[in-house]
Formats: sequence, structure tokens, C-alpha cells
Amino acid sequence: MSVEFARRFIKRGWKFIEKHKLLEENDRIFIAMSGGKDSLTTAYLLKSYVDEKNLDCELVAFHLNLNFEISKEIEEIVKKQTDEFGLKLVKVNIKDYGINLVEISEKLRRSICSVCGVVKRYLMNKVARENNATKLATGHNADDFLIFFFKNVSSGNYDLIAKFKPVLKSDNVKMVTRIRPLFEVGGEETKRFCDFMQFEYVKKPCPFFIKKIDVKRIEWEKEINRISQFEKNFKKKFMSAILKFSDCFKLEEPKNCKLCGEPTNKEICAFCRLKLFQNRISKS
Ligand code: SF4
Ligand code: ZN
Repeated sequence: MSVEFARRFIKRGWKFIEKHKLLEENDRIFIAMSGGKDSLTTAYLLKSYVDEKNLDCELVAFHLNLNFEISKEIEEIVKKQTDEFGLKLVKVNIKDYGINLVEISEKLRRSICSVCGVVKRYLMNKVARENNATKLATGHNADDFLIFFFKNVSSGNYDLIAKFKPVLKSDNVKMVTRIRPLFEVGGEETKRFCDFMQFEYVKKPCPFFIKKIDVKRIEWEKEINRISQFEKNFKKKFMSAILKFSDCFKLEEPKNCKLCGEPTNKEICAFCRLKLFQNRISKS
């Protein structure tokens, strides 16, 4: 590991931010921070870019507390990270929205990760928009996109490829534009970078991670990393190709939920359906 690696990593990140216009003057960016290495790297790249270019752009860290046993510990790490970068932190606890992930998942007999995903997507968009964010930055990396791409294409779900973009905009004004600074960066690289920079980040897996483990995902990940060993810049090159494919597909624009008014493809959004279920089990 060398200073040269870190320098190149940062330069490459800045070039990507510039090329895809991830940041623009007068932006107010919400950065979703989970405490992990990817969201931390995302925050670092955005903050260092804004400072380097002296850009008139406000960066705000946003943390969603999932109310698990380890959530307090995670929140403290996020606080240290944001203090170190000099970022304002907005924290939201899902219990304030009346949600108990463990209870819902047990009673619904649905994987906790799928329930968690619904809640995170909903609240990240809603809270960012209500706080006047112009964009929401997430730490999704090239591995996440590549695995998702192969899994979806092999099962015939082509339309979702439309979402594979470093900047994802929607015609629905209630959907906050997503930006993904790590679109071409692999997970192994963000780990090396954070370790080299001696950043503190959450290393313990989520207590429900074991349940999340999906054998196919692991096999895809191994295969992608194996190809990367003999094909130089495989992830970067493949992500550029995916970006071109993504323009060939279009997703249906979301309408608004009849109950809460948030964007959804159904009459009633997935979050409201979970809330209705939560209210029912809390009363019984
Ligand atoms: Fe949520 Fe934990 Fe599953 Fe991640 S592993 S989706 S944080 S429950
Ligand atoms: Zn709703």
C-alpha cells in the first residue's frame, strides 16, 4: 500500500465526479452514511472535491438508525467520521416512524433485509427531500452494480438496467436525484483506501448479515474478482459498458402513494403497507 495508491484513488474519484457532474454549484447534497467503508469513502471524495474546487455546494451527512442492538455503537462511529470531515449530521431513528424491523420480519415471515431495504429507500428519499436536498449520495460500489446486473440479466429483468447510472434522475419531483461516486470502484479498493487513510469505520457485520448471505451473490462476487485478476480494469470497463446499455432501457416513472403521497409504482407504497401491518400487530 502506498501514498501513490491513495493519491491515484482520490484523483480518479474527483475525475469521475467532474465527468458525470455529480456536484454542481448551489447543490445541497445529503450523503447516506451507514458507518461502513463505502459511505465513508463517498463522503471523503465529495468533501475533498468541494474543498479542492472551492465549490459553493453544501454537504450534509445523513444517518438512519435501524434500532438494532449495535445501532448506538454505529451511530457513535458515524458521529466521529462526520466530525473528522467537518460535516453536519442529520440523524433519524426508524422507531420514530413506528417501525420495528425485527417484529415485522418475524410476523410477516419475510427476510429482514427485504423489509430493511424498503424502509431505508423510503426514509432516505423522504428525509432528504424534506430537508431540501437537491441530491442524495449513496455508497453503492461497482461490485454491487455488477452483481445486480448479472443476476437481473440472467433472470430476464432487463428494465432495471435503466437504474444503472452514476446520476439517477426522475420526472417525479418527489424523487431526489441519486448520485453514486463509487459507480466504477470495487469494494476491495474502498477497503484498502480507508485502511491506508486509517479511517475508523464499522467492521462488524450487521447482526442479520448471516441471514442476508445469498450464495449466488457470493459466487458472482468471486467470479467478478477472479476476472479482475487477469483482465486489467475489468470493473471500470464493464461499468462503462453497463452505463451505455442503461440508456437503452426506461423504467416507468413512479406515481404517488394514495396514503402518504410518496413515490411508488403501486397504489399504496411498500412502506405504508408495512406500517399498516405494524399497526395491526402492535394492537393485537
Ligand atoms: Fe438491513 Fe442488516 Fe440486512 Fe443490511 S444486513 S439490509 S442493515 S438488516
Ligand atoms: Zn405510502
